[in-house]
Amino acid sequence: MTQVEHHFPYIPDRLDRLGDLAYNLWFSWHSKAVRLFQMMDRKLWENVKHNPVRLLHEIDPQRLDDLASDARFLEYYDRVISTFDHYFSKQDTWFKYNFPDKKNSLIAYFSMEFGLHESLPIYSGGLGILAGDHLKSASDLDLPLVGIGLLYREAYFTQFISMHGHQQSIYLYNDYSDMPIANVLEDSGDPLVVKVEIEDREVALRVWEAKIGRISLYLLDTDFHENRSDDREILKRLYIGNRDMRLVQEILLGVGGVRALQAMNIHPAAWHMNEGHCNFSSLERVREMVEKGGSAQSALKKIKANSLFTTHTPVPAGNEVFGFDRVAHFIDPVIQKSGLKKDTLKSLGQEEMSHDPNAFNMTIFSINTSRYINAVSQLHGQVARQMWHKLWPELSLEDVPIGAITNGIHSRTWITSEMKDLFDLHFGEDWRYHLMREDFWQNIGSLPDAQLWKTRQILRRKLRHDIRCRLTAQRERNGEPRESVDEAKNYLERNALTIGFARRVAEYKRATLLFRNRDWLKSILHKPDMPVQIIFAGKSHPENQPGKTLIKEIYDESRNPDFAGKIIFVEDYDMAFARRLISGVDVWMNTPRRPLEASGTSGMKAAANGAVNFSILDGWWQEAYDGSNGWSIGEDREYYNSWEQDEADSRSIYETLEKVILPLFFKRDEDGVPAEWLEIVKNSIKTILPVFNTDRMVRDYTMNYYKNMMK
Ligand SMILES: *Cc1c(COP(=O)(O)O)cnc(C)c1O
Repeated sequence: MTQVEHHFPYIPDRLDRLGDLAYNLWFSWHSKAVRLFQMMDRKLWENVKHNPVRLLHEIDPQRLDDLASDARFLEYYDRVISTFDHYFSKQDTWFKYNFPDKKNSLIAYFSMEFGLHESLPIYSGGLGILAGDHLKSASDLDLPLVGIGLLYREAYFTQFISMHGHQQSIYLYNDYSDMPIANVLEDSGDPLVVKVEIEDREVALRVWEAKIGRISLYLLDTDFHENRSDDREILKRLYIGNRDMRLVQEILLGVGGVRALQAMNIHPAAWHMNEGHCNFSSLERVREMVEKGGSAQSALKKIKANSLFTTHTPVPAGNEVFGFDRVAHFIDPVIQKSGLKKDTLKSLGQEEMSHDPNAFNMTIFSINTSRYINAVSQLHGQVARQMWHKLWPELSLEDVPIGAITNGIHSRTWITSEMKDLFDLHFGEDWRYHLMREDFWQNIGSLPDAQLWKTRQILRRKLRHDIRCRLTAQRERNGEPRESVDEAKNYLERNALTIGFARRVAEYKRATLLFRNRDWLKSILHKPDMPVQIIFAGKSHPENQPGKTLIKEIYDESRNPDFAGKIIFVEDYDMAFARRLISGVDVWMNTPRRPLEASGTSGMKAAANGAVNFSILDGWWQEAYDGSNGWSIGEDREYYNSWEQDEADSRSIYETLEKVILPLFFKRDEDGVPAEWLEIVKNSIKTILPVFNTDRMVRDYTMNYYKNMMK
């Protein structure tokens, strides 16, 4: 099995490694590699949305020749290439060191979405980014792991907000030849194709490979000549609204994914299902085993023994239910060959006392076919055990076999280059190897306040500049009058306390909670000598009308004279803007309706960059908050009803802002530095950075689960 050679119009010999660099997402967590691409053509780098493959396709050949004889550039290039090569030649990696006997065993990691970088737009939000960060840490730790996902013809939508606050969604076309992926080929040189029986036909899947450091991520697609035209469209969009299409997507991921691995002669010892969408893999694995001989029951037992299922949300919309008749309709041939009776399969996806005899729940199906199950924070573990206790009525609540591994972030991806430079200056470049050492991060105390504060100011001002550009562009596009465009050029103050709130707009996240007592909010935002500003961002699924209404409410407030220039809604929240926003604010706020936020990860990104969390004690924050590293909204308790909860939580927001956060932020020493504030920043970095990261998370997965399955 080989890959296609990269074809670029022209690359000078002296720079011939640029192709290797462009085709490995390794660049995305190495700021110097990003800077290298940026140096090549700053404007083009922005225009191609930070996609190095496109950059190399579109850059002027003359410019490349100039760079090939530019001593300063060449020195930088050589350094990046040598870091790149060193990464792959490193032998004393965590996994090899700890599990020398398991290096030939392999883990398969399935997910419906992967958020690795804006140049590979096949993600929508938190779930995908977590999967992407999982692969990056798996690469850093040198786990023998492969990812399996889907390649969508269109990027998850680009969000535009109209002049009147309506969300409009535009789906941009993904040109695969311009993305950092390559076809997997047969020995004959033809693209590898696997087939899945759907209804009475076969759907063909091509297999693509994206490289994430040492890790391969295999992506399946149907949009090529072997398929009839409607089948070419099945993988048009992630989280497509049409239920039958969504079901077929999930069948292709699960069944097609197992077949692709088989065709590549990859035989995993451990199977990790990231959320229930991908679990038709279990059905296919049973079929494979039964066709080799043996009963369906014994095959079920065997596949279960090396399966791990991670559940990501208690919210019903995330625990997907299909009609079993539709499942049976689309995938009948595979069910037939699996030897499983339809009723047996159906019962695997049903509660015993189900009121809907046709409901097939992907979470229940995944639970019933997995030996290991985990939730994504300690509190979510409790919630999930309660939620699914009914599947083990004979057990006591605490014995329900659902564990918990708290999510993390890939720190090297999410710490901005400005913070990396600060750490480099103070600790030397080796801090990257001590990311998980809590004792090492105690040293943050010795970081001079003035330097830390300077970096924080730079980050805030860059964010302000970025937002002004975005807002003026948006208003020009919307045809707003000149005055209104000019007004946006002056929005935001450079030294104001800046609060950020951005996430997928779902009801339980309560994006508008802050406006519950509008007068109170207004008085907080208009205190003399204490300027405060709040930045909102987030997309709503195009078919989620209530979500779109919430966006309009926030947008309308941002245009109201009471708040104009102080409350801003920025359109099109994606990974690139997330990096800028989360690192540029002083306070990162989160207001989920407890206990519905399973984990959340953006607050971890904030902490790693020196922004301070101000959040409901839900998900990860319930275990991270220690009284000295940020602030809580509300109390560590449950409420009787949502009215009482909203009332208490909103009061808590206003009171904490007024009495604690503002006074602390504006209390300066004679050099203008807020020393007490920076103490909280440092507490936050030192308690959160070494713990809430995916290196720790992937190690936990390995020690608690993978290692038991890898023979
Ligand atoms: C980190 C991230 C998320 C997930 O954040 P939550 O805290 O889980 O809401 C979503 N979208 C983007 C673009 C992100 O970077």
